Amino acid sequence: MKPNGTSLNTPSNGQSLDFDLLNDLTVDEMGDEHVATSMETPLRDDAFELNDDTKTALIEEHFREIMNILGLDLTDDSLKGTPRRVAKMYVKEIFSGLNPAKKPKVALFENKYHYNEMLVEKNITVQSHCEHHFVPILGRAHVAYISSGKVIGLSKLNRIVQYFAKRPQVQERLTVQIASELKKVLQTDDVAVVIDARHLCVSMRGVQDVNSSTVTVHYSGKFKEDDATRQEFLRHVSEPTAAL
Ligand SMILES: [Zn+2]
Repeated sequence: MKPNGTSLNTPSNGQSLDFDLLNDLTVDEMGDEHVATSMETPLRDDAFELNDDTKTALIEEHFREIMNILGLDLTDDSLKGTPRRVAKMYVKEIFSGLNPAKKPKVALFENKYHYNEMLVEKNITVQSHCEHHFVPILGRAHVAYISSGKVIGLSKLNRIVQYFAKRPQVQERLTVQIASELKKVLQTDDVAVVIDARHLCVSMRGVQDVNSSTVTVHYSGKFKEDDATRQEFLRHVSEPTAAL
């Protein structure tokens, strides 16, 4: 498929984009208040009609134009590969989690050793991007579950976090998306997710606070109903991590 610039502005589902209805004030307010409109990532129905190569070629073209408008000399050896690099990074790396085909495949195992206490996976690296400013959100996630008779490989917990992080995000949505995926794959409601992250859109621009971080939580099942369970989880999270 030949890259076609106009297709970006004309979703094939006929939905009109009302970008021009948003004035500067609305745009700044929504961004700085980090308002999310839905717990599902707002994707169009035709989101995956273009393949990754076509998306990369189109983004490259458009990013070159952004750099051009900024006045950068794209014949400079250091800059000329940047549009291609950014396009590949968007599609293959930092926004690869938009594509449901990339969702980690999770195999469940029988909990043969009858471990029925909580399992906590803590300090999972979170590297995401704020959907209002497209700058990084960097932090840690702590997740826990109580087995309903099934267990999953530990690294799958990290992979589920990473999959949902690799999207333009708001932290509240990221937290809920991880929790609901864990509930689904682990077949239990007893799930907890805490994310503590720094937003570069808060530290680099706007209010320019370099010290604050944002904590979001989702507790369900025993973690919501039983105070002792929740306290135990929080105690594990706050304890120093074992040295290697
Ligand atoms: Zn932001």
